[in-house]
Amino acid sequence: MRRFDPLYEKARKLAQSGRVEFLGNGVYNVVGDHGTYSVAEDHTGKLSCNCLGYLQKGRCSHVVAVEFMGKRRRRKPR
Ligand SMILES: [Zn+2]
Repeated sequence: MRRFDPLYEKARKLAQSGRVEFLGNGVYNVVGDHGTYSVAEDHTGKLSCNCLGYLQKGRCSHVVAVEFMGKRRRRKPR
């Protein structure tokens, strides 16, 4: 279970306001407050982002926003 997390709340707002765009091939565009970032999913399903927060902490609202979208939409079987 997730505790209340400001990052998660921010991510939820990004997802709900339609700021996550699926580009295909596991790549998403996320329009954040300070710019547009690319979140990419590798073949293991791990997400990474090109923003500074992700580089420093390994987690950011953009990645969480994409996770949030993925939870609402069922995972595609392959
Ligand atoms: Zn990010």
